[in-house]
Amino acid sequence: MRPSDYATIKHKFLHLLHQTAWQKPMAATDLQNLDAHAGELEYLRAAHYLTLHLGTLLELKPLAKALAQMLAELSGVERVLVLVVERDNDMLRYAGGYGLGELRAEQALYPFTERANVIEAWHKGEDVVLQPNQMPIRLADLVGQPCLSIGFFVQDVLQGAAFLVNPADGKLPEAQTRRLLQALVPTVAIAMRNAREHSVMTETLANKMQEHQMLRRIDRDLLDTIELDSVFTMTLDWAMRFTTAQAATLALYDQEADSLYGYVDLGYVLSPEQVQALRADHDGSIAHRVARSGRAEIVPDVSFDAAYIPLSDRMKSHISVPIMREDRVIGVISVESRRLDGFNEDHLEFIQKLASRAGVAIDNAKLYTDTRREREKLSRILSNTADVVMVIGAEGNIGLINQSALSVFHLTPDISYIGLPFEDVFANSDLLKLFQRARKLGGTTVGELTTTDERTFSVNLSHNDSIGWIVVMHDITPLKETDQLKTELVHTVSHDLKQPLSIMNGYVELLLMQEKLDAMGVNWVGMIQKSIHKMRQLIDDILDLARYESGVALETRPTSITSVIAESIAEIAPAAEQKHTRIINEVDSDVPMVDGDGPRLTQVFTNLIGNAVKYSPNESEVHVSAQRKDAMLRITVRDNGFGIAPEDQARIFDRFFRVRRPETREIEGTGLGLAIVKKLVEAHGGEIGVDSHLGEGTAFYITLPLAEAN
Ligand code: ADP
Repeated sequence: MRPSDYATIKHKFLHLLHQTAWQKPMAATDLQNLDAHAGELEYLRAAHYLTLHLGTLLELKPLAKALAQMLAELSGVERVLVLVVERDNDMLRYAGGYGLGELRAEQALYPFTERANVIEAWHKGEDVVLQPNQMPIRLADLVGQPCLSIGFFVQDVLQGAAFLVNPADGKLPEAQTRRLLQALVPTVAIAMRNAREHSVMTETLANKMQEHQMLRRIDRDLLDTIELDSVFTMTLDWAMRFTTAQAATLALYDQEADSLYGYVDLGYVLSPEQVQALRADHDGSIAHRVARSGRAEIVPDVSFDAAYIPLSDRMKSHISVPIMREDRVIGVISVESRRLDGFNEDHLEFIQKLASRAGVAIDNAKLYTDTRREREKLSRILSNTADVVMVIGAEGNIGLINQSALSVFHLTPDISYIGLPFEDVFANSDLLKLFQRARKLGGTTVGELTTTDERTFSVNLSHNDSIGWIVVMHDITPLKETDQLKTELVHTVSHDLKQPLSIMNGYVELLLMQEKLDAMGVNWVGMIQKSIHKMRQLIDDILDLARYESGVALETRPTSITSVIAESIAEIAPAAEQKHTRIINEVDSDVPMVDGDGPRLTQVFTNLIGNAVKYSPNESEVHVSAQRKDAMLRITVRDNGFGIAPEDQARIFDRFFRVRRPETREIEGTGLGLAIVKKLVEAHGGEIGVDSHLGEGTAFYITLPLAEAN
């Protein structure tokens, strides 16, 4: 080494010493000695570069290892242990060493706070010779001989310490070397502090990441789970994992009764019965206190808490966090650790996050359980009801079928019909025909059905976007029987009424043939005749309505509306001719067939066209037209007659309602025609509507379902 090199190294080293917070400058003589001894300069050069190198090490372990090696090389000792102060603790823990061979030093600790005089000496910049018997056993084993200890401080905070020893002969470094070592302390201390801060930072970051990942998994797991028990167990498992605790409990809280229930315990050795007995013996618990107050609690040492229930004598600290839903406490999560002071703010925060997730999951699970219970209730009601109830999904598969349905349709109860196509299960049945018709029409369809065992059901098929088709069938056999009686009665009575009328009519006609009657007599007899006709009309209408109101038994088939209209017009033609009114048939010959009962439809249109002629002045025009509209045919009967006032329009379909206006007063009628028409149209699955303006005319619209092939 050339002299100029020595000068550079010396300069650098002195510069380094001045840069640091070295409080104890070297004596001038020492510095002169440095010049004198090239060997020492060599030594300083090495020390200088090594300290610079230390400053670049950010990780604690590599730093400790490098430091140990450097100290060993600089001091000539065989073994060096570097210990650093544990985070939030009063222990120095082994971080790196040199010359340990196969020895394991990870467990070596030095409780520095218990050695005030050592700390004080270190703080003053003195090294301290420690005897093995002054150390905890593990450290003493590694040291074996009296060792030289140096403490590293940044300002007043101890960062770590180094223990230098020659295990073979216990020889310690010379005073000179020790002084030189002391010169390195401030730089090493700063490097150590940086590395410690770095490790705290990376640890916090790693914890945060771990916490984040845990919460994400928890969210996913809890969302997937609807069984309360597994929600509880999972929550506890996560709480224990994060806090590295040994046991945990989750309990639900009934605020009204002020009691905890539904305990789930994890990590205790006792049997559930033993745990239950222990809890029963105590009036309260920390969890109960937390449930009442709604405030989380960390109990660092359970032996000082009178409310603590020891489910295991090994547990030392406890944390309880309330599970809240909308300002109400619905449960408590408690976690216990074997360590004293085993929980910190991070743990509290995490368990709180866990509790809020558990709250949502408990709600979901409760909701699910409630829904399931409701469903079971509903299904019990459905299976006990006498009505047939079925649900057919949008794809045409059976979604629900109750007990009554099975027995009414003689379906074997051994098979599950859920999911089977409705069309297969009910192939060739009248119910299937009704369903197909309902499907074509949409909305709600009402029909009647007679089963093979002669029972009559009223069938209601309604569509719901989210459910599909709901079929409800109610047994109306008794009603039908009563109705039959009524019909028979009406028939007999009307027959009995009609017969004398016919006789009266016969004699009146005979009377008219008599030439003895004068003009006035002829007029009177004519009036009797008119009244007889009116009465007969009334009896016919009453009979019709009675029949239709008790449910029209339609015989529907593809029917040509063209011929229905033509027939109806032909029937009205004489009356129209009398009034010089033109009936204009605008129905195209190729309009699609409707699904209808021909004679009934003729009755409908005869009535409507008849009214149009009847309620129009002489020489009017009546137009009949038809257009297809989706699955329906819309037929319009329009006149330019007297029209109907808006307030009357709503009532014209009522039985016996007749508009009372001067221009129609003379017109005869029973007020039953439109009531019959409406019943018939609706029985076809169609609708009727009116558009009318007083003095301008009236249009009646009717829709009828198209026949299948259309
Ligand atoms: P009616 O036997 O009286 O004709 P309807 O039930 O057929 O009984 O009709 C009820 C009432 O509706 C009639 O009395 C009449 O006032 C009114 N009405 C029916 N059709 C028409 C029409 N085309 N123009 C004007 N009014 C009508």
